[in-house]
Amino acid sequence: LCYRKGKTPRRPALKKTNNVEKDPVGVYCRIRPLGAEDEECCVEMISSSTIQLHAPDGLKANRNGEYKETQYSFTKVFGINTGQMELFEDVARPLVEDLIQCKNGLLFTYGVTGSGKTYTMTGSPGEGGLLPRSLDMLFNSIGPFQAKRFVFKPDDKNGIDIQSQVDALLERQKRDSQQSVPKTPSSRQKADLEFADMITPEESRKSKNIDEDCSYSVFVSYVEIYNNYIYDLLEDAQFDSVRPKPPQSRILREDQNHNMYVAGCTEVEVKSTEEAFEVFWKGQKKRRIANTQLNRESSRSHSVFTVKLAQAPLDADGDYILQDKNQVNVSQLCLVDLAGSERTSRTRAEGSRLREAGNINQSLMTLRTCMEILRENQMCGTNKMVPYRDSKVTHLFKNYFDGEGKVKMIVCVNPKADDYEETLVMRFAEMTQEVEVARPVDRPIYHLAAGRRHRNQKLLCFLPALPPCELVDPTDDQTLPRLIEVLEQRHRIRQMMTEQVTHTGMVKFMLQQFDSQMSSKDTFVHDQQSKLNEKEKVILNQKTEIERLEKKSKTLEYKIDILQKTTEMYEQDKRSLQQELEGQEQMLQKELSERRRMEQRMQGVVTDTKLKWEKECERRVNAKQLEMQNKLWVKDEKLKQLKAIVTENSSGGSFPPEPPKKPERPSRERDHTMPQKRSASPTALPVSDFILKNHHNHSDHYCTSTPSTSSPYPSVASCISEWEQKFPIDSGSQSRLHGTPQNQNRTPAPGYSTNSVDRRRGQRWAPDTEAPTNDLDRNTVPPVRPTHRRSRSAGGEKWVDHKPASNLELDTVMQPIIPNAIKVSTPNEKALSKCHKYVLRHQELASDGEIETKLIKGDVFKTRGGGQAVQFTDIETLKQECPTAPRYNISLKYPGLIMLLRCSVSLQMYFGVLFMINKIEDSI
Ligand code: ADP
Ligand code: MG
Repeated sequence: LCYRKGKTPRRPALKKTNNVEKDPVGVYCRIRPLGAEDEECCVEMISSSTIQLHAPDGLKANRNGEYKETQYSFTKVFGINTGQMELFEDVARPLVEDLIQCKNGLLFTYGVTGSGKTYTMTGSPGEGGLLPRSLDMLFNSIGPFQAKRFVFKPDDKNGIDIQSQVDALLERQKRDSQQSVPKTPSSRQKADLEFADMITPEESRKSKNIDEDCSYSVFVSYVEIYNNYIYDLLEDAQFDSVRPKPPQSRILREDQNHNMYVAGCTEVEVKSTEEAFEVFWKGQKKRRIANTQLNRESSRSHSVFTVKLAQAPLDADGDYILQDKNQVNVSQLCLVDLAGSERTSRTRAEGSRLREAGNINQSLMTLRTCMEILRENQMCGTNKMVPYRDSKVTHLFKNYFDGEGKVKMIVCVNPKADDYEETLVMRFAEMTQEVEVARPVDRPIYHLAAGRRHRNQKLLCFLPALPPCELVDPTDDQTLPRLIEVLEQRHRIRQMMTEQVTHTGMVKFMLQQFDSQMSSKDTFVHDQQSKLNEKEKVILNQKTEIERLEKKSKTLEYKIDILQKTTEMYEQDKRSLQQELEGQEQMLQKELSERRRMEQRMQGVVTDTKLKWEKECERRVNAKQLEMQNKLWVKDEKLKQLKAIVTENSSGGSFPPEPPKKPERPSRERDHTMPQKRSASPTALPVSDFILKNHHNHSDHYCTSTPSTSSPYPSVASCISEWEQKFPIDSGSQSRLHGTPQNQNRTPAPGYSTNSVDRRRGQRWAPDTEAPTNDLDRNTVPPVRPTHRRSRSAGGEKWVDHKPASNLELDTVMQPIIPNAIKVSTPNEKALSKCHKYVLRHQELASDGEIETKLIKGDVFKTRGGGQAVQFTDIETLKQECPTAPRYNISLKYPGLIMLLRCSVSLQMYFGVLFMINKIEDSI
């Protein structure tokens, strides 16, 4: 006996790369028709993939009509008129095709109790569900290519063993002998539902992609998961109806390929649809009995019907199955009828039933959680642990989601109003279709020529038929040689054909190699293409980046340009400013040197001038000293002369005798004695009070100590006395040459001079015309040039003639006549500002009864503050007898003499000074 172990297809370790192709979980929605008693329909199919839920009227009323109408989308929606066949075509048929192509599939129905899960999965008589239709299609496809019973043999580790046909035959014979009463369909009870009741022969489907060079075998298993326990529904244990034993629960295990399986689960090899359906029905019956006996709620359990397909290639001859377990491929399709998804509160469960219900709900909750986490992991790239182990259902189907396969879910919906609240769970279903499951890879290609089975069958036709080889007669010597001949013939033909086949196989093998090479090349090209696409994306990104950078660089260049231009402008400015600066510096230097030269020159000039002035000062001092000495000398000389005159007079001179009545005589005498007293000390004269302003001009004398104010407040008399005290020599007699501009023509007329009562003192005379004829004077007075005594400014100056209102109007010709003068009674600034000279007519009553008019003269200056100042420079005195006193007429006898005396002294002094000055000037 030769046992070779087959096992479940080794699944490639799921690479977590994006290259693995994935398909989303197909979620279909089936709306069952309303029951006879139901009236309100809450579900509307608005498109082939969308349904809309309408809140039932009762619910609307409860919530004030504010109920949102919700829409859900699915892979496909099947309306109430959808038949079982149509559903099968769309949903289950591809899964059966996959099963035959060695790909796993999982199909489950989901929904509340009564929504049509069982109807969809199992169906009713005449309306076979997905399960009988799938079995039918499978057997229709593999029917003629099925292996003999027991060639494929399930091990207890979810694998399939393979054994030779002879061993299988022997095992069959053994089993047959063990079963005392062989079960035949004819022996079945009529009460059981038969497959023939389910589908009509017209509805049979068959796969066209069946590999005929393989041998197939189908195994079915049926388990129920109730309260998170797994029960085998195909277990052979006899059910004791008297003392029902709780069925033995099964555990889940993982095989060497990490597939989950129910350990020790019965797997029945079935050879036809009828047989398979019979097995299913058996399990179904058992489930029903158990539920009734154990007081279970059948809607609370999940039932899992698994169709396992084992296939192995035929050998090169196409005669036998290849005895290589590694070549055995096993695929399975799980058809799951889930428990009702309604909430616990809806069921009137109590006690242990409530617990059970909770668990049922728990397993569905786990399914929901697993789907959510899977979806999150796939969509967000996270790696959260999916809690498959939390429930048996999810744990059992872990591989479908983790590994590869096709998963489909049919959401059954009952549109009746009662179920409205439950239909909200469709959000889960909608979400589930976002979960992706790896697409199963195509089955490996066997390196054997295809069509082996067909060829083998044809070969049998070519071979000569065997002659009858029954040996009846021992002496028959023809039968055996004939048989030998035929056999030899067959052997030859077979060898020949084998050679051909081998050759074809070689070619085929080469072709296959080429094919695999091509496919690897294809994958390589595909890889390269995807790489290229990635690179292109990168290039595109870089291009946009480059464009962005280019734009940026352009703007920067533009900015640089602007900055450069600005810099150039600034530099130009800087250069021009520097040039300007240099020019100015040069100018400054030039100016500096000029100034230095100037300073040097000025210093020279200053020293020169200084020296000159020093010399000049020295000279002037010397001159002044000389002048003073001269004055002294003149004074002495005059005194001598006077003494001589006085002595002459007293000794009977020619001079008329002095009138005795004259009261002023003593005063005059006193006046004359003053200079005499002073002559003893001529140095007492304040030389510094006289400044020779300009030696080219005639000698103007400025009195620096004269009060410079034009204020009328101090009394004129006091001022005059002060003046006279300061200049005792000239007081009362001094007559200035530059004084009142008296016109020569204005000199008194001869008639007036004799008759007039006026007496003038200090009146100026031109010596050449009016000097009193005095021989003595002529002899003693040094000769002075008369032209020097004439005022140059006479007539050219403007005067302010201040004549106070209190002044008496004197009717005399001896009045100062000032032409071109502004006459004022009180001095005002306006008048002063227009004039250079000022004269005040001051009248006083003298002690001798005469009216004395003093002409106080001064120069007008502009003060710094913008005002006017008068600097008094001269006093001229005019005296007249008061016209009201007739006794003064007597004194007219000698006025000329007195005048002469006084004048001669002053004139001589004056002329002496002038003489001296002229002399000095000449010497210079
Ligand atoms: P579940 O298994 O979900 O509890 P069932 O499949 O037992 O519900 O269905 C309950 C009842 O509704 C059954 O009598 C079934 O015949 C009927 N039914 C369900 N779906 C359909 C359908 N699409 N067309 C006709 N009858 C249906
Ligand atoms: Mg059901």
